[in-house]
Amino acid sequence: MASALVLRAAALSALLCGSFLSAAPAVPTQRIMGVDYVSLQAAGDALGLRATSSLLGRNFTLSGPSHRVDLEVNSRDILVDGLRVFLGDPTVGRDGRLYVSRTDFEFRLIPFLRPEMAGPPPAHPRIIAIDPGHGGKDPGKQNFRLGIMEKTCTLQVAFRLKRLLEAGGYKVVMTRTDDRQLEPDKVADLPRRAEIANLAHADLFVSIHFNAIANDTRTTGSEVYSFVPEFQRSSNSWSDRKDDSLREVSPANRQDAWNALFAHAVHRQLMSNLHTMDRGEKIMHLAVLRPLRCPGILVESAFLSNDSEARRVATPAFQEKIAAAFLAGINDYARILDSIRPAPQKPTKP
Ligand SMILES: [Zn+2]
Repeated sequence: MASALVLRAAALSALLCGSFLSAAPAVPTQRIMGVDYVSLQAAGDALGLRATSSLLGRNFTLSGPSHRVDLEVNSRDILVDGLRVFLGDPTVGRDGRLYVSRTDFEFRLIPFLRPEMAGPPPAHPRIIAIDPGHGGKDPGKQNFRLGIMEKTCTLQVAFRLKRLLEAGGYKVVMTRTDDRQLEPDKVADLPRRAEIANLAHADLFVSIHFNAIANDTRTTGSEVYSFVPEFQRSSNSWSDRKDDSLREVSPANRQDAWNALFAHAVHRQLMSNLHTMDRGEKIMHLAVLRPLRCPGILVESAFLSNDSEARRVATPAFQEKIAAAFLAGINDYARILDSIRPAPQKPTKP
């Protein structure tokens, strides 16, 4: 606990001297276990949503005409309009009230529920960087029983997505177009993919992957990752209780709110197109996302270690569905940005 507090204190000093300024509304915060928290009531008031609790005081909701968020005490696992989302910090219950961390309020709830409050939106996306995960010596995950390799499936989906995006009027840059690594070692290969997007002035970055768990043939489903918002822990760090929060902001942190909004838009379309198990929106310090100067996500669309899901992944029909879900998510994200962009000022006549 002591080291976690020291890390938080370091994070706070970095926040004071190096953080990207947020545009989030002023809400009263309360320091709990070294983290700034906001009451769900105050968050609801700022977002124009009603906060309610169940009779036993363990389950809470934020709801309004077009949104509903379900939360539980001491949990990072919430539902946003029916989609599973992982918060960066667990909720806290105190005196019958629920608290969410200030960072989750700012970089999860606001972008999902009131994106117009997240600050000036990025430009309407025109150039999309597609990153087919792995390649060359690095096959990625494999299903040896069926002879299916992740690096092959990611490239096949990438080509389908490229075709759909170009037909939709987008310009596409691919980090690879054949079976190769970009750099001999993984440490250099991953940031190189983000650099290609940066050099092309990409407006969005999508890294395509497939998942697998060793000695587990049952797990299935899709998950969408974005870079960890400034100073939070990654989703996976909680199971082994190791605090992996960073002391410094990364280039990707400039887009914290928009990474979340983009992840959410693609997640919604993946769920409605693929009908896979919802494994949630998660956050991780991914080297392929860290250097990005535009919003970016990494998607594990399905599990290769489950034979029936792996067989589907290898079919052109399912690959086309994945690509169509990405396209629809990108279109939705673009529409949301356009809907919250202030109208251009008309010149006033003298
Ligand atoms: Zn992968």
